[in-house]
Amino acid sequence: MHKLSIEEGNEYLYVTSTAIEILKKYPLCDRCLGRLFAKLGYGWSNRQRGESIKRVVLMELHNMLRNEKIEKEQFEAIARNIGEHAQPLLRKLGLGNDENTRCLVCGGLLDSFIEDVSRRSIPILKAYDIKRFIVGAKVSGSIINRENQLKLEFRLGFGESIKAEIRREIGKLIQSLDKDLTVDFDNPEATLLVEYPAGAIYLQVNSLLIKGRYWKTGRMISQAYWPTPSGPKYYSIEEALWSVLRIIGAERVVLHAAGREDVDARMLGSGRPAIFEFKTPRKRHLPLRELEQEANKSSNYVSFRFEDYASRKDVQLYKDDMAKTSKIYKALIVSEEPIDDDKLKELESFFVDRLIMQKTPSRVLHRRPNILRRRKVYSMQCLKIWEHVFECLINAEGGLYIKELVSGDEGRTTPSFSEVLGAPARCVELDVVSVKLRGHP
Ligand SMILES: [Zn+2]
Repeated sequence: MHKLSIEEGNEYLYVTSTAIEILKKYPLCDRCLGRLFAKLGYGWSNRQRGESIKRVVLMELHNMLRNEKIEKEQFEAIARNIGEHAQPLLRKLGLGNDENTRCLVCGGLLDSFIEDVSRRSIPILKAYDIKRFIVGAKVSGSIINRENQLKLEFRLGFGESIKAEIRREIGKLIQSLDKDLTVDFDNPEATLLVEYPAGAIYLQVNSLLIKGRYWKTGRMISQAYWPTPSGPKYYSIEEALWSVLRIIGAERVVLHAAGREDVDARMLGSGRPAIFEFKTPRKRHLPLRELEQEANKSSNYVSFRFEDYASRKDVQLYKDDMAKTSKIYKALIVSEEPIDDDKLKELESFFVDRLIMQKTPSRVLHRRPNILRRRKVYSMQCLKIWEHVFECLINAEGGLYIKELVSGDEGRTTPSFSEVLGAPARCVELDVVSVKLRGHP
């Protein structure tokens, strides 16, 4: 009697001889058998692989049976583990009954799981206006163990994981069932997380990100929403975006801006570059112009320009750029001593490409770490307004505190206007008139 073993098997018949060894011991469905050889061949599903292997194996066994190289019982046992593809032959030979054995790895549930979960996922994706998605899978530990043990026992090196198959097959099936839905690894709008075999579906919705700018033509407006027990401390840029938040049904809005101005400083001129992040939106394919118009209706003192939808990757690139800005400020300054044009000329020529050493200002020390910053003032232009009052346009590196550049903050910022003028000076009004990202026009 011929013995079927991998050791004796012809190395050129690796797939057939290995499959026979496995099926001698365990029943496997088409997918779970095919998956053990997933890296052999290309352009087929694991179900097609498994089905092809089973047909060839069955034909080989049939041949051996006819040549009496295999016993009937042995033939029947393997054929039974092959399952439904072997039933017509078993019946023809008058062997066994129609009972199918259950797959060792998936229990025979994988096919219907993929079908069922794909169909149930579509309305969930639609409810959140998702067009581009990826699939993630959580598989019970006992199933993963069974699959790994099988790979170890037969030293299988060409397989893939059941997780990978579930992710890919559900993605493919959803795409084919609904042409508006696409698997997109680069810029997905959501992750569909499915649990095998429980069948639970979770949707992780990515934020809707809008790239743009904002302007603040009033004072006492903060960037972030600032709640207190008696209501928000100031009106905020984030609050001005709540009308958009309501339209798209998001849960929260977060502002990522290229720096920030003081609450009492206006943001004029160029506006400030920012990314507006809307968390867990229910709608995400509305025209940007409409959303911008809504945002601009919120307040007479805050306005927006929405330039484009952005991806997570854009945000990272943008954040790197946002850290490197140059800014132009307009400051209204009061000096304790009278000012003349010569003094202002002296100030202008002193602050040309001048490096400023600045310890964290005492007014923000309670909420910021005490560090020493080095920032440059590139140039400035001053205009006398009254005996003690002048206006100054200051072109400086982003991150420099201007009020302290003027006052000196009791020696924490040096050099300062007070130092150069030889008399205490104070910034009483501050506007940002231009924010430029390095490498951007
Ligand atoms: Zn299976």
